[in-house]
Amino acid sequence: MPTPDAIIRFAPSPNGRLHLGHAYSALYAAEKAAELGGRFLLRIEDIDVGRCRPEFVAGIYEDLEWLGLTWEMPVRRQSEHFADYEAALKKLRDLEVVYPCFATRREIERTIADGGIDMERWPRDPDGALLYPGIYKDISTKERSRLMWEGRTYAWRLDTQKAIELAVKKSGGPITFNELEGSPFGDTGCQKIEPELFGDVVVARKDVPTSYHLSVVVDDALQNITHVTRGRDLYPATYIHRLLQVLLDLPEPLYCHHRLIEDETGRRLSKSAKDMGLKDLREAGKTPSEIRQMIGI
Ligand code: GLU
Repeated sequence: MPTPDAIIRFAPSPNGRLHLGHAYSALYAAEKAAELGGRFLLRIEDIDVGRCRPEFVAGIYEDLEWLGLTWEMPVRRQSEHFADYEAALKKLRDLEVVYPCFATRREIERTIADGGIDMERWPRDPDGALLYPGIYKDISTKERSRLMWEGRTYAWRLDTQKAIELAVKKSGGPITFNELEGSPFGDTGCQKIEPELFGDVVVARKDVPTSYHLSVVVDDALQNITHVTRGRDLYPATYIHRLLQVLLDLPEPLYCHHRLIEDETGRRLSKSAKDMGLKDLREAGKTPSEIRQMIGI
């Protein structure tokens, strides 16, 4: 059904060259926009200033143009909009659903080990990070100020339980999202969220006042994204995104989590899968239509 107000984005992070998995995701997004008669945007997610490089941004344009894609100008680059994310963080601070956490990774590991728990058995979030054991969560305001004055580095963590309670209260019931394509479990329609799987997830840092989770919800709202299309690996991230959207009074988009492209051994492609890089494939003589054939789109 034509939906002319549909706005769909492809939002790569320029921390490596694009591979076949990105090609699938970009083509999927552009085709969904075309199918709906809507608009297609490209967004550069370069908040990780340490890992993102200009040559990878140039590589994104080069590879996507080669695939035959066109997108609207100007392209939003997250590194130019830290003030927007800072404003959202301030709102979360005002709601008292985030707290500064001064723990280093070593300190987190030590706390778990000191508790006599085998690291292998400690729960991890859907991204594989150890669930935060809560150090610094309940320290006094005085202690918090002292650590800040000392110039200690810190991350802003979401008090996930408190955030869920507030969000449920705000929305007047359980928070859900609408999945059009298919969850990793193969279902579509109304999906329940399980943000507690992430524990007290980091939403910003002292030096970079944002995170993937925070910038993505702010930008999707600012750019009026109606359909968030992305790989199924990011399905659990949607739990956090929906929670943040409710807390920040942002609109709820529809979600389409598409299948992932795997190599011949069934392993999901990653940035290290160099042989599947679009530049290398192009230099080896592959054409855009052969790329489409390889990924089945
Ligand atoms: N920037 C993210 C990535 O490259 C994708 C963000 C999204 O589509 O939500 O994995």
